[in-house]
Amino acid sequence: MVRRLSLGGGQRAWLFQGTNLIVEEGLPDDDLAGGSPLKNIIRDFRDIEIVEIPALEGPERITGVSLAPDAPLPPGWRAVPVRRSLLPFTGETALDGRGPAGRVLRAFHIIQWRGEARFCGSCGTQNIDAPDELARLCPACGRMEFPRIAPAVITLITNGRGEALLAHNKKFVPGMYSLIAGFTEAGESLENTVVREAREEVNIEVRDIRYVASQSWPFPNSLMLGFTARYASGELRPDGMEIEDARWFSRDKLPLIPGHGSVSRFLINRWIAGADIV
Ligand SMILES: [Zn+2]
Repeated sequence: MVRRLSLGGGQRAWLFQGTNLIVEEGLPDDDLAGGSPLKNIIRDFRDIEIVEIPALEGPERITGVSLAPDAPLPPGWRAVPVRRSLLPFTGETALDGRGPAGRVLRAFHIIQWRGEARFCGSCGTQNIDAPDELARLCPACGRMEFPRIAPAVITLITNGRGEALLAHNKKFVPGMYSLIAGFTEAGESLENTVVREAREEVNIEVRDIRYVASQSWPFPNSLMLGFTARYASGELRPDGMEIEDARWFSRDKLPLIPGHGSVSRFLINRWIAGADIV
């Protein structure tokens, strides 16, 4: 259930514009996930939609606010990529959907989804909020649309010499390497996806696939499922399309890797700490 808010007192809210979180200039970088006072948002912004989102558990509401894409920022506010708000969260706290990181991710996911679910995908009528579920409802044909969640796998592959496979995607900043990842196709199991992505992206076969942990990743609407696997066979060869370079790295000679707050970093840290050394 999503309700528009009756203006509240001291509560905090998360204000988004596109893929940015909009925060007050004084808010330190390690506190971005804490959001902003709702009263200050209401005071300074006009082109906003305020949405109350039920927390995953309990009676709490998460207040998400969307700002029109072309609206200028008033003095005293700045835009930061939502992803940056996750950097202070190391270890499992980043993965917990019920914690502070989960709150900003849930708000961002729902705000984005609402922006894309304005009209019924079946008959084109303008959707309304469903009265008692977190869903959009078509008043003409009754079609319900729930927040979209697209599963994607990310895999730490080890090779039996104490090394892990890290790849440079052409979308990454120069020098950045991360794990092999990709979306699950319709009809595919998660294990199938792990095998297919390793084959397609770097031309190797893997075995001993094990699930480790997951994380909501609404960039734009993924659920990242973290796995480990062992190299089985094949000559390492980047596809040259998505993956420009892929190499085996030992734990003491790592390249630039993803920042904290992501399941990829969680898997890499876990391996550095001694898990999955094969
Ligand atoms: Zn409809």
